[in-house]
Amino acid sequence: MTILAAAATSNDPSGSLLLLALVASVGYIAACAVWPFRACRPCRGLGRFHSPTGRAWHPCRRCNGTGAKLRFGRRIYAALRNTRDRSGPRG
Ligand SMILES: [Zn+2]
Repeated sequence: MTILAAAATSNDPSGSLLLLALVASVGYIAACAVWPFRACRPCRGLGRFHSPTGRAWHPCRRCNGTGAKLRFGRRIYAALRNTRDRSGPRG
């Protein structure tokens, strides 16, 4: 108890904030690795739009009917990977 209190008071506030940001970003990266997709916003993850009668539908153009969109963090990862793959022999 006293050790925790001492650590809390002796910590530099900017340092603990940095640590919190680091923990949050690591958590976000882990979440992007486990759940790379999020529900498509226009079709709410359904992948299609229904007519008012509910019988007819057309596929969502944003997600190509999959209902899934890559998350922001995962898109960054994909972009980084593609850049590395394309660099090839030229470097
Ligand atoms: Zn969609």
